Amino acid sequence: MLAQYFPIYFFDCDIYCERCRAVQKFKIFSQVEYDKHDLNKILPAKPLYCKCDKCENFTIYTTDEFAELQEQDYAKNSLCKIWGLSNLETGDRVWHSEYGIGRVENIFNNKGNTSYSLSFLSLENQTIPPQSFNDDKLTSIFYRIIPQNIANAKIGENAYHTEQKCEGKIVGLSFGEKNNIIAKFGNEILTIENTEENFLSNEAIEKNAKWRCENLPFFEDLEINTISQILSVQGKVPNLKAACNLETIINSVPHIRSSILLLDIQESTDENKVISDDLLTSSSEPTKIIITKNNLELYKLLIKNEIHIYNCKIQFAPQEIFITGFYCDKSIPERIYTVLGNLPIKSLKLDLKFRSEIKILKTSLKNGNFVRIVSSGETILIDGWVKTSKQKSFATIEAILRSLKFNVKNNLYITLNNVL
Ligand SMILES: [Zn+2]
Repeated sequence: MLAQYFPIYFFDCDIYCERCRAVQKFKIFSQVEYDKHDLNKILPAKPLYCKCDKCENFTIYTTDEFAELQEQDYAKNSLCKIWGLSNLETGDRVWHSEYGIGRVENIFNNKGNTSYSLSFLSLENQTIPPQSFNDDKLTSIFYRIIPQNIANAKIGENAYHTEQKCEGKIVGLSFGEKNNIIAKFGNEILTIENTEENFLSNEAIEKNAKWRCENLPFFEDLEINTISQILSVQGKVPNLKAACNLETIINSVPHIRSSILLLDIQESTDENKVISDDLLTSSSEPTKIIITKNNLELYKLLIKNEIHIYNCKIQFAPQEIFITGFYCDKSIPERIYTVLGNLPIKSLKLDLKFRSEIKILKTSLKNGNFVRIVSSGETILIDGWVKTSKQKSFATIEAILRSLKFNVKNNLYITLNNVL
């Protein structure tokens, strides 16, 4: 059920699966498109749907719970190198078996001998006399120190167990009555209780959220739940303003990992459904309110309303829809605003080009598939949806045979891939 609200495949990650009782490859899906090459733009506490490739069991983690989604300096600032194992640089955080967590203050080089001056929290940041060690197999990896430094541990971090003196990886987090960090050392899975951070129970979070919302006139239409300290709110709200207001309230609930708002805006009885400027500016920050539709559903909604866009591409950003393509009926841009205008979005951007030369070669609607083939000059465009990639390839062949042109752009959605 929840999967449909996370339509965008993001990345793969090795995570401990509670059902398989083993580390498995998980597929991670997001609600909006993120760029892994631009980590600064990935906001924390955004929910991600994580599905085990083997047993399809799923869990929700958030963007700040994955090591690989953090900014470049994150490991250097939060994790430690190991005294005796690591190649140290000035400023590095370091774990020393005798003194605990410290910092490399200075490095001295004397005739090929390197010694380090270190300061330690346990010594009230006093520097100890320069020390050196011998090892020719040094690493530059930063480690999560287990069990001494477990607050804010993230999946994918390298881990170092200070009692067993071995290296491993953080492979999961669990949030229940107790909050645990799951780490893999060799073939062993260890569960370490996170006592460093304070979390509220699901019941306490839910009670708090309901108390904050109970005076809202549409409170009866809301379903508020908490699973693993993630607050989810599903229901109908009268308009975008109410949705933004609700979002502010939900985000003020303390000690939540993330929130998921799945809201429908009640059908407007107003004839004029075009988004007004007032609504466009009523919410300033990109928010977590999500449109309970995916790209294909939006495309289907357009087709249902006789809005045909060719070479059609639909993109989502938070609360924003961006549509590109060609059209040959001049009323189309305005009709798009009418049809999509009552969705909970802040803006609707269109980059559509009018092409009078577009000719329909074939429209087929059967067995739940919809295919339209058109020509635009020397280019053949195919839009619609089919169930399998085989049907998609077949449409290309059909378009070539029908037009005897080889420049074919096939934009068909494949619907079976969209069922998670
Ligand atoms: Zn599994």
